[in-house]
Amino acid sequence: MSWDGREGKNARGHGPWTLRRWNTRIPVLRSRPMSTEPSPRVKRRTSEKAGRFTESVIREMTRQAMLHGAINLAQGFPDFPAPEEIKRAAQDAIAADINQYSITWGARPLRDAIARQMKLWQGIDVDPETDITVCCGSTEAMIASLMAITNPGDEVVVFEPFYENYGPDTILSGATPRYVRLHPPDNTDDTWRFDPQELRAAFNADTKAIILNTPNNPTGKVFTRAELEFIRDLCLEFDALAITDEIYEHILYDGTEHISIATLDGMRDRTITINGMAKTYSVTGWRVGWAVAPAQLTSAIRKVHDFLTVGAAAPLQAAGAVALSLPPEYYANLASAYQSRRDRMLPVLREAGFNVFVPRGAYYIMTDISAFGFADDVSFANYLVKDIGVATVPGSSFYSDPKSGARQVRFAFCKRDETLAAAAERLLHLKK
Ligand code: PMP
Repeated sequence: MSWDGREGKNARGHGPWTLRRWNTRIPVLRSRPMSTEPSPRVKRRTSEKAGRFTESVIREMTRQAMLHGAINLAQGFPDFPAPEEIKRAAQDAIAADINQYSITWGARPLRDAIARQMKLWQGIDVDPETDITVCCGSTEAMIASLMAITNPGDEVVVFEPFYENYGPDTILSGATPRYVRLHPPDNTDDTWRFDPQELRAAFNADTKAIILNTPNNPTGKVFTRAELEFIRDLCLEFDALAITDEIYEHILYDGTEHISIATLDGMRDRTITINGMAKTYSVTGWRVGWAVAPAQLTSAIRKVHDFLTVGAAAPLQAAGAVALSLPPEYYANLASAYQSRRDRMLPVLREAGFNVFVPRGAYYIMTDISAFGFADDVSFANYLVKDIGVATVPGSSFYSDPKSGARQVRFAFCKRDETLAAAAERLLHLKK
């Protein structure tokens, strides 16, 4: 039995995963019955913060996929090889004995390459000496940024459905998340949108920041200039910062343009731009990411980062400098290969009975599962992983209120053709 008295089932009783949602309160431990023996005071062994969220459902689905021999279309990592030249660069770096700590905020060649890329792709001037912190993945860049800027009582606006980490990141940093819905389109070819009035209502004097993710996981939405300008105006009015996770910057479809909010008038000084190697170079296991921000914010982020992790893997940072110097064709090929995978999976999912929301960026397809008549997303995802042999992510893991995602599951399509073909064959059994 687990310490809080549940036998490994979650609040909804759906199994050992999603043990406790991060928006649910935990029970308070009661002290032991009185005894005549002197006994030490019983203390709670784990923190209240850690009790406010569960293990990642996405990562748990990967474990479920392994357990059931299912094809993993749950977690967003490629099953195809990373580019040869960057693998060689990593091997060369280790052979050349780049094996000790790098400078805590990142090896200079990588910071130089990041600054060059920011100029090339976004037209943003970045000083590698003062504006960049290289972290252990964009995951660390996000939490280090939040810990560097928030105080207890601060609020952080988060769009939902969200990438799972943002809620726990906000809680761990001591701030309070305020959720604003991205509403699904009626016509699934259209894009998810926020209601400007709802977004405005989420801002107040305590709003410290808004977290943006464009291109977006899980919806595939790419925020438009007009939407970003609306967000910019709110940031200026309420003196809030924008933390923008742009890890799918280069994975765009149908000629869609990625716009960094830092490029909008008035935003350069109040934006933390987060990116990393994981998705662009198909190296999710390398754990190299970065935060780009004005010097004053960067010096706070660097301090938090230093005491959290000291630094990202030195040889992989060296290889990162090589990766970020790949020619423009690399990025064009990356996007077109992903567009083919998307265009292959959309008809398969439609044929299998899903209502699909067409992504304009990132490598996920959010779907509506109403047609299958399951009680909720978790029971459907359980059925898919165990009986059909395909792992997905239940929609509820992208919302603060699980009910909001009860009719959705997400598919990741960052996989080899053979993997997608095998998944397609299995998914078509859903119809039979
Ligand atoms: N941000 C988003 C939106 C993601 O989807 C992911 C991975 N699924 C990450 C961050 C994690 O990035 P990293 O591997 O660089 O920590």
